[in-house]
Amino acid sequence: MSSATHALIETENRLGAYNYKPLDVVLSRGEGVWLWDVDGNRYLDCLSAYSAVNQGHCHPKILAAMMEQAKKLTLTSRAFRNDQLAPFYEEIAALTGSHKVLPMNSGAEAVESAIKAVRKWGYEVKGVPENKAEIIVCSENFHGRTLGIISFSTDETARGNFGPFTPGFKIIPFGDAAALEAAITPNTVAFLVEPIQGEAGVIIPPKGYFPKVREICTRHGVTLILDEIQTGLGRTGKLLAEEHESIEADVTLIGKALSGGFYPVSAVLSNSEVLGVLQPGQHGSTFGGNPLACAIARTALKVLVEEGMIENSAKQGAYFKSQIEAIRSNAVREVRGRGLMLAVELHPEAGGARRYCEALRQRGILVKDTHVNTIRIAPPLVVTKDQVDWASGQIEAVLTSLA
Ligand SMILES: *Cc1c(COP(=O)(O)O)cnc(C)c1O
Repeated sequence: MSSATHALIETENRLGAYNYKPLDVVLSRGEGVWLWDVDGNRYLDCLSAYSAVNQGHCHPKILAAMMEQAKKLTLTSRAFRNDQLAPFYEEIAALTGSHKVLPMNSGAEAVESAIKAVRKWGYEVKGVPENKAEIIVCSENFHGRTLGIISFSTDETARGNFGPFTPGFKIIPFGDAAALEAAITPNTVAFLVEPIQGEAGVIIPPKGYFPKVREICTRHGVTLILDEIQTGLGRTGKLLAEEHESIEADVTLIGKALSGGFYPVSAVLSNSEVLGVLQPGQHGSTFGGNPLACAIARTALKVLVEEGMIENSAKQGAYFKSQIEAIRSNAVREVRGRGLMLAVELHPEAGGARRYCEALRQRGILVKDTHVNTIRIAPPLVVTKDQVDWASGQIEAVLTSLA
């Protein structure tokens, strides 16, 4: 480690809240799938900022849109209108088939906004008695870090000593449609779920789960809210992961790659009456729907589609998965994934995923461990076959030498 790197890490550790424990690599530049540290070492990014940079680092067209808009107008607040919001609504509605859009900033804000809207919908449309609305969620979920959201987390690290928590949530196992049906009461307003549980270690539900979930929600008048903040926008090889299941959510949450990593932009998309219950003054955000965010998001969506990134995600994802599956290593328990949302789960005896991540960093690949034994692999969607071949070789070397 160079002294420059060491000094930056030391300052971070001394002055920053210690709520993260990053790998000791200090990055200063990114381009496409590549990242460079302050010492000039190059890495293939296999995390993509938790899928916020699906379009690749510093995509030139998104950068140009950002620069151009930043020179003209960045923020008006929603007290006034701006000329980027309407075309953003139009383009995202056309792309996703949504009827209403609520623009926010972070993913957690989109989740909170959906919870607020769907509760209000429950009281005003479904006729749930005051303060009785229930929302069903899944164990091992990840929906963000606000107090409302951690109130229904099952991760003790995320919850410990942050109470008291918000009531009104019921937790059921992921992938169990019968448990959903059993948990529903006349006061259930929504089922909030990830199409694939990302932070839990890329957990794919059993085949047929989501069609059954869709049918149950429809039959009971329960709003199906899909959190596609990580799975959406091409990550799984489709624009939205719901397409793999041939279903449509009532409310879809997107964020992360909605800006290609340039800026926090999220949105609640609704194809039901849910967002229709919000009236002036009842919800808002100073930055939500600002012209800079809208200009960036418009271009981030445009390049995703025009440059074939979604198809590339399906193609390179399937190839990458097959290459990793072909690795013979005693350390590997299971290889999972869809599109470029991949994970290698190691046997508990393998000594934890973290040391494999460290070893991969030495070989020029940045990956992140999740849930102790799982290595998540999720490069930007612009990754090429040659890069996948090279990365597979490095992963093979590490999985066979450390095992
Ligand atoms: C990242 C993520 C969030 C939270 O997004 P933030 O922008 O970090 O608030 C919510 N849900 C899922 C599935 C995520 O992956």
